[in-house]
Amino acid sequence: MKVAVFNTRSFDRTFLEAANAAHKHELVFFETDLNLKTAGLAAGFPGVSLKTPSLLDELALESLARGGTRWIALRSAGFDNVDIAAAHKLGQTVARVPAYSPYAIAEHAVGLILSLNRKLHRAYARVREGNLSLEGLVGFDLHGRTAGIVGTGQIGRIVARILNGFGCRLLAYDPIQDAECMALGVRYIGLPELYADSDIITLHCPLTVETFHMIDAGALRQMKHGVMLVNTSRGGLIDTKAVIQALKSGQMGYLGLDVYEREASLFQKDLSSMVIQDDVFQRLLTFPNVLITGHQAWLTEDALRNIAETTMANLSDLEAGRPCPNEVSAHQASFAREWSEEEIELTALAEQLQKWVPD
Ligand code: NAD
Repeated sequence: MKVAVFNTRSFDRTFLEAANAAHKHELVFFETDLNLKTAGLAAGFPGVSLKTPSLLDELALESLARGGTRWIALRSAGFDNVDIAAAHKLGQTVARVPAYSPYAIAEHAVGLILSLNRKLHRAYARVREGNLSLEGLVGFDLHGRTAGIVGTGQIGRIVARILNGFGCRLLAYDPIQDAECMALGVRYIGLPELYADSDIITLHCPLTVETFHMIDAGALRQMKHGVMLVNTSRGGLIDTKAVIQALKSGQMGYLGLDVYEREASLFQKDLSSMVIQDDVFQRLLTFPNVLITGHQAWLTEDALRNIAETTMANLSDLEAGRPCPNEVSAHQASFAREWSEEEIELTALAEQLQKWVPD
């Protein structure tokens, strides 16, 4: 099948080409996102493949349909960036990669914990400048410290396993208790208790209306002085301005982020020769105890290989008319649609306004 493959960088192409050896699709790579403006590039391609920040709303899907596109292979687990109902109306089938490597994200979260604690980011920069002073580099033993895991699904469960290996005492909050975590000795408690008792808090729950800005000024006040917070989940979980205040006062001792609530205009772009206009993000970069990566937690060879192999297999199933286990059904879409950060923010704002309306 002729497939227009969007959002590709050199590392995506290597793995997609290797996986395609067994499928023999005709792949044409585009670096750009796929959206209404770029949909014309896919004219004449029965298949397209994409990941965020591509956005296929009804108009973009109609444009693709006019160009003859029938099959849409997402290289992500989430499918909130595609209007599934509109695709189905147009006779298009959408498939995804439901899981690629929870280890990649869990290991990155632990990497942030280790680097922040032992100040590896500062030591690296210092030593390169010939500064081998130890001032300001004091860390703590993870052994015996308390780690609070918020969300013990695929990723949080692996974080629990790794931190258990370090000898941490483990607390967790999740509406669903995981049997493996319980067997490890993880103690499920309420969020206020987790905030109050944890030296390290790591977030692994989804972004929903309920969890939007769960880490706000109120939550930060409940945490231990000098707490470490790590977020590899979704930026909207954290009220960044409140966290900046906590960093300034010392209430927060360390912050590790792989996601940021306004990341769409910043992450996965080289902005090194531009003036970044996001003042909140720029303020975060001034703290010595903040370590930020640009949504790279998933980026391992294993994850790229799994994504590429599943995507090629999905395209082959769709072309051959075989049942595709990773097809996104209308039923799933109506239940599982993840909200965009803007939608969540607007809803939260609307809820606030409702509260302010006088009786
Ligand atoms: P998962 O669905 O397996 O687990 C999520 C867990 O969160 C579930 O156990 C669920 O019960 C729990 N949960 C739901 N609501 C909660 C709440 N209000 N408080 C606490 N827990 C709650 O998901 P996963 O695969 O482990 O992914 C976790 C997060 O990691 C997702 O939000 C995903 O977007 C993010 N992620 C980030 C990257 C990255 O590169 N940084 C890559 C993949 C996934």
